[in-house]
Amino acid sequence: MSNKIEELRLEFEKALTEAKDRAALESVRVRFLGRKSGFLTEILRGLKDLNPEERRLIGAAANRLKGEVEARLAEAEKGLQEKPRTTLDLTLPGPEIKIGHLHPLTQIIRESVGFFEKIGFQVREGPEIETEWYNFDALNTPADHPARDMQDTFYLAPGVLLRSHTSPVQIRVMEKEKPPVRIITVGRCYRRDAQDASHFPVFHQLEGLMVEKGTHFTHLKGILTAFLEYVFPFSFKTRFTPSFFPFTEPSAEVSISCPVCQAKGCASCGHSGFLEILGCGMVHPNVLRNVGYKSKELTGLAFGVGIERIAMVKYGIPDIRLFYENDVRFLHQF
Ligand SMILES: [Zn+2]
Repeated sequence: MSNKIEELRLEFEKALTEAKDRAALESVRVRFLGRKSGFLTEILRGLKDLNPEERRLIGAAANRLKGEVEARLAEAEKGLQEKPRTTLDLTLPGPEIKIGHLHPLTQIIRESVGFFEKIGFQVREGPEIETEWYNFDALNTPADHPARDMQDTFYLAPGVLLRSHTSPVQIRVMEKEKPPVRIITVGRCYRRDAQDASHFPVFHQLEGLMVEKGTHFTHLKGILTAFLEYVFPFSFKTRFTPSFFPFTEPSAEVSISCPVCQAKGCASCGHSGFLEILGCGMVHPNVLRNVGYKSKELTGLAFGVGIERIAMVKYGIPDIRLFYENDVRFLHQF
């Protein structure tokens, strides 16, 4: 008799694995637990004809199996519910298709490039792995300049580094092309900055260079003012303040009046009323000499814009790290 129960257990296991839908599960249930002629029902019903010792043993084993069968059936039923519905209901609305969009930095890059193309600049590219010559020396940056320190720049080998700005592209272009030159370049730059709300070891720069006879500072002011008015959707004042870069002379930093406080001073602008946006200047004569531009009449202007900086000011983003975390909840807002 206890062999019979063991056989039933095996038979149930087989039947359960073969049952693929609700109807099949129901017929398994009827076969084993059905009130009229279920296998287990019959055994339990027959207990009364056994002697007391057998009744106790068989009864316990049969009831244990009955409990197991019920539990396994319930489990299998639950498993079926969790599976996706297989029937095709053409009247149901389709699944929502989420359409992605360009990353905010890509949007700023495309807008900016679009602006400069409209006013006659051409796009050029350069390598992200540079030599010290292109990244520093040719740009009139002396060996003792702090940017050349191991602490500030990623060196891959002696004299080879990850470019710390897009300015080496200026040199590469001028070496190959004769003036007039009107180019922009955009790309990744690398600095050994510790990460915080406004620094990240990788960032994007847009660089502009214009070299031709008669280029002067008012061209620089005009171009950059028009550019800033093009990218920022709010009204503001532009401010040029004297600065220093080894590769430009004179050099300037360009700020705009803080859109949060209208130049009154607030936490966003460090209570100065202005936000620094970019650096620029007239190309240093040494840089023109380094690329073999000999004419004394040639002058040039150059500027470098942080793409992240533009995006942060334009959208009011407080932390540069948000751009690289790939959190869709953040990205889908732009
Ligand atoms: Zn402010």
